[in-house]
Amino acid sequence: MGERLAPHRPGRDDLRALFPVLAQEVNGLPLVYLDNAATTQTPLPVLDAVRQFEQHDRANIHRGVHTLSQRATEAYDEARRTLARFIGAGAAHELVFTSGTTEALNLVVHGLSTAGAAPAVLQPGDEIIVSGLEHHANLVPWQQAARRCGAVLRILRPDAQGRLRAQDLAALLTPRTRVFAVTACANATGERPPFEALLAQAADAGALTVLDAAQAVAHSVIDLSSLACDFMAFSGHKMHGPMGTGVLAGRRVALERLEPLRYGGDMVAWVTETEASFADLPMRLEGGTPNVAGAVGLAAAASFVDRTGRERIDAHLSDLRRHAAEGLAALPGVTVLSPDTGLTAIVSFVVDGVHPHDIGTLLDEQGIALRTGFHCAQPLLEHLGRGPTARASFAMYNTYAEVERLLAGVAHALKVLQ
Ligand code: PLP
Repeated sequence: MGERLAPHRPGRDDLRALFPVLAQEVNGLPLVYLDNAATTQTPLPVLDAVRQFEQHDRANIHRGVHTLSQRATEAYDEARRTLARFIGAGAAHELVFTSGTTEALNLVVHGLSTAGAAPAVLQPGDEIIVSGLEHHANLVPWQQAARRCGAVLRILRPDAQGRLRAQDLAALLTPRTRVFAVTACANATGERPPFEALLAQAADAGALTVLDAAQAVAHSVIDLSSLACDFMAFSGHKMHGPMGTGVLAGRRVALERLEPLRYGGDMVAWVTETEASFADLPMRLEGGTPNVAGAVGLAAAASFVDRTGRERIDAHLSDLRRHAAEGLAALPGVTVLSPDTGLTAIVSFVVDGVHPHDIGTLLDEQGIALRTGFHCAQPLLEHLGRGPTARASFAMYNTYAEVERLLAGVAHALKVLQ
């Protein structure tokens, strides 16, 4: 834990030096890594924490009386406590480790739509509202659940600018609404919806509420205790942690209503040949050997983000985003999606008559990594009348000079392509 250490400064060389992957050339030019919404890079303290665990403490948890097993168990439990503090979880919350946001959301959807000792929470005729800004990971599982349970899936569509509005949610909420699911930031457009108010509105109407925080936790303070949020999901690799790690956190009473997704070792209280009873949370939802090194690395990433300071990171990223959005919008034929949204690290754009893949390829030739395509949010981009986009996304190590390289790179690509 680095609380007493001097903070790293976003965008400064000493911070960048902690991310060895950044110090390389791609196609003969210094790498400009602007694909952070897909995956962020991992700093040395996180790599060190993982290596330290693997070199000294690696053993299976909960099952051993021996010293390494006890150390591994303590490291896993400590990682859980660190992450719970990081997201502002309180006494009424639980935190479950998963392999990422996708698994966390599937855990919720499966858990609500599957009968166990009790009937499934979702029943025929129930209504599920999912925002129209969502990544497929927060849409497709609900589609499947609705089909399985005979529930009705309703979409809270954004307006023409890609914004969600409270009055539209009010019009969709009914006494049959069981679930409302929304993102903290749309990964395809960078739109930052007023999710706090929307979650509260849905909770007041009696719905269980689900927040996809995948695009927020690396830089914004998400305080679970002050949100009307039953379930919150995020991924480690999007907040400088190891790949294949993530979290489902939420209200204990809500998590207790989930039928487990994985049955097996570590999630049971007792087992006979014909029956089993399940352990308490969080183990009840963590069947099988967990990714202990991953959890340790994820906790180290949370500490690293906190040492840098989420308010500082947010301010830095929104400066970069503003500069990129203004610079891109000034180029011929370029339209920036969600140009005026609140704090966000993503800028998504389209160019008249130019396919984003061609822009991405020409930028890669200049050592600049960004993402092109539908960003796993095809219904949103189609609703907005757009096809695939080019998306630059920023992290704490990106600099103003890198935004300038992006703008020059896009300008050069357009000269070639237009
Ligand atoms: N939700 C959002 C908003 C995302 O941006 C992503 C990934 O891009 C996901 C969910 C899925 O995350 P993962 O692939 O880490 O499970």
